[in-house]
Amino acid sequence: MKKVVKFGGSSLADAEQFAKVGRIINSDKDRRYVVPSAPGKRVSGDTKVTDLLYQCEDLASAGKDFAGVLREIRGRYDDIIKGLSLSLSLDEEFEKINRMLSEGAGRDYAASRGEYLNGIVMADYLGFSFVDAAEVIFFNANGDFDSEKTNAVLGERLKTVERAVIPGFYGAMPDGSIRTFSRGGSDITGAIVSRAAHADVYENWTDVSGFLVADPRIIKHPKKIETITYLELRELAYMGASVLHEDSIFPVRKEGIPINIRNTNDPEDDGTWIVESTAKKSRYIITGIAGKKGFCSVSIAKDMMNSEVGFVRRVLQAFEDQNISIEHVPSGIDTMTVFVHEDEFVSKEQAVVSGIYRLARPDVLEIESGLALIAVVGRGMKSTRGTAGRIFSALAHARINVRMIDQGSSELNVIIGVDNDDFERAIEAIYAIFVETQI
Ligand code: ASP
Repeated sequence: MKKVVKFGGSSLADAEQFAKVGRIINSDKDRRYVVPSAPGKRVSGDTKVTDLLYQCEDLASAGKDFAGVLREIRGRYDDIIKGLSLSLSLDEEFEKINRMLSEGAGRDYAASRGEYLNGIVMADYLGFSFVDAAEVIFFNANGDFDSEKTNAVLGERLKTVERAVIPGFYGAMPDGSIRTFSRGGSDITGAIVSRAAHADVYENWTDVSGFLVADPRIIKHPKKIETITYLELRELAYMGASVLHEDSIFPVRKEGIPINIRNTNDPEDDGTWIVESTAKKSRYIITGIAGKKGFCSVSIAKDMMNSEVGFVRRVLQAFEDQNISIEHVPSGIDTMTVFVHEDEFVSKEQAVVSGIYRLARPDVLEIESGLALIAVVGRGMKSTRGTAGRIFSALAHARINVRMIDQGSSELNVIIGVDNDDFERAIEAIYAIFVETQI
């Protein structure tokens, strides 16, 4: 077995966390390739090293003194090195970083040093080889990730190292300069390394024991999702559930490598498995619930709309012309409704309305705001009778008015629109009927 293990910033925030990570890696010889983030927050209110590095660069590029912030960053690493009783010195590295920042090396270079230095410390602590991501992860001249070149070069390199640490978050441009992924991008590096190493599993270690059935800010101690498919995850992530960087799915999905989300602070918990497909049924018929507030609906009616060729396209054209992305479009025989994000829509509202009148000549047009959308997602819904019925009776019992219903054609999810004010209560009612009652 070959496992790639990625550790997030809170798992590596100080020496104590590093020691936990060391125990996790050493307890399983299959954990051969390690992808660290930069040290994160030690306590709430603390600053992540990545953010300190951005601060440094802001000062450097404004020609201001950044020595104080750089010293603070140095202090974070020295505390870890001392706490682990290592004899490593980062003198030379910090001299170089100081020089490069003074010479205008830029934001990406600055930010990447958090992972780079953590990789050096981690490799020293574990006795693993250090592979600089700049030598094995590539971007093309447009700044897009070059997956094929990376996969070829990284794959060859990993064949030469039995155990290695590859820092997350960055790679190199064709001219050798450093480029980072978007924030949280070490997750992507972990997935890229998993693909190149032909790993059996990509373990992503964080500070929660996986995905939860519902948002813990709404439901107290929600149950954990044991297994979720990539498609279900995509639906829930789109609706706001987040643990993993979205772009980290593609590299591993291509190779059919499962992702296992694990908790550094509770390593015995098996976490959540993210898989392509599974025969395992979700414990509760539904896999998860997620949602977002702040939508508007634009409802349009026109007699004989259904037989008017191109009507829907013309309506949608009015949104496209204003560069507004569309969330959902449930429709009836002579009606259709377009759901959009309120904050994106408000300033362009009148331009869209006049566009619709000009392009599609509707009989009636009505705008409503203050709507929330809730996605109830589950691969098991397809083969279970009465799921939608249970959702709606739960909402009716809770005296919640359902403003919209949209069942995706894949039968993987049901989207429900309710008033913003009913959002939390609606999620509570759906959670209760599926998870707590389990009838
Ligand atoms: N350190 C980077 C960030 O804070 C990348 C990561 O942690 O994944 O966004």
